[in-house]
Amino acid sequence: MASALDALVWRSRLIGEEASLGLFGGGNTSTKARQPGLFGEPEDVLWVKGSGSNLKACEARHFAPLRRSPLRRLSARRAMRDEEMVAFLERCLIDPKAPRPSVETLLHAFIPQRDIDHTHADAILAIANTAHGEALARKVFGNRLLWIPYLQPGFTLSKRVYEAYQRRPTAHGAVLQHHGLITWGPDGK
Ligand code: ZN
Repeated sequence: MASALDALVWRSRLIGEEASLGLFGGGNTSTKARQPGLFGEPEDVLWVKGSGSNLKACEARHFAPLRRSPLRRLSARRAMRDEEMVAFLERCLIDPKAPRPSVETLLHAFIPQRDIDHTHADAILAIANTAHGEALARKVFGNRLLWIPYLQPGFTLSKRVYEAYQRRPTAHGAVLQHHGLITWGPDGK
């Protein structure tokens, strides 16, 4: 059976090969797994794409493993500056040689669903970048996708998505105004 990381790499390449999902730049993917810690005890880990690599040609070494327990606690905070967030994420790394985790890591960390994909999909931006984006998104997706008003990527956006998810945990994802799409589920499919 393929490991959680192998499955993540496979899925990420499928997304990366689809130019209309990533032309706008990047996108990132993640999975959550329980794996043996230093003494063989089970540890909850978030695997998330590192910054500076392309989904299309990604390999296992382009993903960063982070401890989930401090990331879960972080969602209780009200605010966090970018530099502080980057330093915090680096301290959560299980492997010090891993690439620097994406600046959008907390989007993946706070939502408790196992598999999460974030893209800047053309089709979504065609809706989310218009004056009536919110009304259009509701018309097209109904209650399946949440609508998140524009915020720069970082702690506050991640927390806003998490709060919207908590209010409606049956949603499959969220449209981020002027930014893209995030989808989640119990498996990569
Ligand atoms: Zn993004």
